[in-house]
Amino acid sequence: MNRGKVAGPRALLRRLREVMAGGGTPQDRLDAVTSLIATNMVAEVCSLYLRRAGDVLELFSTYGLRPEAVHQTRLRVGEGLIGDIVAHGRMLALSDAQSHPQFAYRPETGEERFHSLLGVPLQRGGRAIGALAVQNRSEREYTSEESEALQTVAMVLAELVHAAGLLSVDEVIDIDGNATLPLRFEGMPLAAGIAEGHVYRHRGAMVVRELVSDDTAAESARLERAIEGFLERIRGLVADHAPRIGEAEKEVLHTYRMFAEDEGWMTRMRAAVRDGLTAEGAVRRVQDENRRRLQLAPGPYFRERIADFDDLSNQLLRQLANRPEIGATDMPENAVLVARTLGPAELLEYDPDRLRAIVLGEGSPTSHMVLVARSLNIPVVGRLASVLGRLDAGEAVVVDGWRGLVYARPDESVYDDIREYGENEERRRRYYESMRNLPAHSADGVSFQLHLNVGLLGELPLLAATGASGIGLLRTELLFLTHPTFPSIEEQTAAYRHVFDAAGEKPVIFRTFDLGGDKVLPHLDQPLELEENPAMGWRAIRVGLDRPSVLRNQLRALLTAAEGRPLQVMFPMVAEFAELARAQAILDLEVARARRVSLPAPEKVSVGVMLEVPSLVWQLEEVVRVADFVSVGTNDLAQYFFASDRTNPRLARRYDTLSPGFLRLLVQVEAICRRAGKPLTVCGDMAADPLEAACLAGLGYRSLSIPAQAFGSVKAGLRSLDCAAISTYLADLEVRGAGRGHSLREDLKHFVQDHGFKF
Ligand code: PEP
Ligand code: MG
Repeated sequence: MNRGKVAGPRALLRRLREVMAGGGTPQDRLDAVTSLIATNMVAEVCSLYLRRAGDVLELFSTYGLRPEAVHQTRLRVGEGLIGDIVAHGRMLALSDAQSHPQFAYRPETGEERFHSLLGVPLQRGGRAIGALAVQNRSEREYTSEESEALQTVAMVLAELVHAAGLLSVDEVIDIDGNATLPLRFEGMPLAAGIAEGHVYRHRGAMVVRELVSDDTAAESARLERAIEGFLERIRGLVADHAPRIGEAEKEVLHTYRMFAEDEGWMTRMRAAVRDGLTAEGAVRRVQDENRRRLQLAPGPYFRERIADFDDLSNQLLRQLANRPEIGATDMPENAVLVARTLGPAELLEYDPDRLRAIVLGEGSPTSHMVLVARSLNIPVVGRLASVLGRLDAGEAVVVDGWRGLVYARPDESVYDDIREYGENEERRRRYYESMRNLPAHSADGVSFQLHLNVGLLGELPLLAATGASGIGLLRTELLFLTHPTFPSIEEQTAAYRHVFDAAGEKPVIFRTFDLGGDKVLPHLDQPLELEENPAMGWRAIRVGLDRPSVLRNQLRALLTAAEGRPLQVMFPMVAEFAELARAQAILDLEVARARRVSLPAPEKVSVGVMLEVPSLVWQLEEVVRVADFVSVGTNDLAQYFFASDRTNPRLARRYDTLSPGFLRLLVQVEAICRRAGKPLTVCGDMAADPLEAACLAGLGYRSLSIPAQAFGSVKAGLRSLDCAAISTYLADLEVRGAGRGHSLREDLKHFVQDHGFKF
């Protein structure tokens, strides 16, 4: 047997299509399909699970498991390995599935004989509608070629299942009993402002019907023509809108255009056509792959790029259908656009004079579309997937982008409430704006430095817009988000040079790559192995030390880009002093090399450590003897300190950074750095909250690095703060033993408010 070698999906795809279009009952056809896949994949089992109402996954067909389990074996979404694949829309490749903690044994299937499992989700319209899994008796490792092939098959199968009407995947929307009272939906505020209008449904997503091709050459030619037209169109859109938006948004559009021109994306689509897909199928295939990778990425940043890729793919699909325009001629005068997701190019295709507000099923505060909407003053509310179906086309709605509320059937009380709230917010915005050029001094004259956190080149203009002292945290990994392969030294050098040039005289702290955690790294060519606990896995400096060439190349690019200017480098996730010493040695090698090849050596190279892992606190004395500065990443530090996943919404408010224990840790850190005379900054989100920033000030922290949107409230807070009073109060709290509770938040809030604190 030809184990581990897949014939390539092309012939299989063709056969699948024939079988599904052929005769027999739907069950006969599905059974033929699972048997076909098992044979082709050299697997002993192939099973298809589909999602039924109530989020239940039902075994619809199997080759290799007991036939009597078909339509009997059911799992909840999230239950067992299959449930996990569907819940997270992710692939699982396990050599010993039964030892996986998620494994849920179903005796009726007889699956105890099979050890390895490769499973992928069946996705349609951005939703997992089932899962396809192959199993083998032996404990075997599946190759990346096999997993790619199974994903392609799953994509085609999802469409075939849908076309065969085997399953209704439409969500059941509960009908509201009372049709007269206003309905209030709470989502996530993404772009501020209030607007009213009538629901207009976005028709962006294109349906792809033909996925498998018989004529590769013709499909390749179609793809090339479409790419050409698409690029022309994107460049045109960007140029047309440049005059009406601000500098920051222009940069955003520029970055977006770079996404569109990404060679890696094109290369993967061309390869998919060669594998036997139509041009549309290839776009979908690569789109699904991007979604899957980004959805699984450890931090929120990668996930926030999903809408951009969806947008680009939809544009390209429209081009392929010769319908490049969105065709919104029937849009009402005052439209509230309702969409699951929306990309920046799609947004720009609508007439901004008619567009009053946007309501999204997904969406995130830093997505490109949201940044563009803000510059066009269009309020946006996101994360309302479960209620989109309740907003009927043409229905009157009010959108409150300040608080993230959407009202359907609004009455007078709704209007009164939002009017008052909007006026207050507007006053606050003007107040923040008025202090943009004022120094960050507390009311009693203590001086602070406020730096900016940056992750995208498009954010660089915010350095001037916020009046920040410099960039306190440049998350370098985010600059290369769209690169399907690891960025070359040249690509890195160009990006870092761009940052240096944009920052001018202002200092920039470059954090080396904080990549890793699991196989979904868009950048590193890693084996397809899932980590059980990615946040605590192979990430950040651990990757850099184990793959010194990655770190060396990055440092080399930074030294080259500095062109003699001072360079500040910071290492993330350092857990012990020895790691700093090793990273420093790698940097020394690169500095020596730069001198040898007579690059203009930077005036000075400073080395910083991110304090994110609690263990390092007990070696901080050694660290500050070597490092030039320390920056506290409170997001990760709190996650490891409390053993509380920072991305788990159920734990979001469970522990508080204003708790006695965490504050004591920060007191220790400040004291060690002060004694050593080493600059100390807080660059985690704790610094971005006005009350928490006030508390940090009270603990002696004088430098904060925060995202642009936090500048107004943090600066306003610090300028109204009596720093001496809060320091004394915090020291007293300690003495009085008030620190025994869960959090000092309420005490602190009352104290600062009684002392004139405003934010
Ligand atoms: C942190 O952990 O606080 C931090 C600033 O780094 P990131 O949020 O990028 O992990
Ligand atoms: Mg971190």
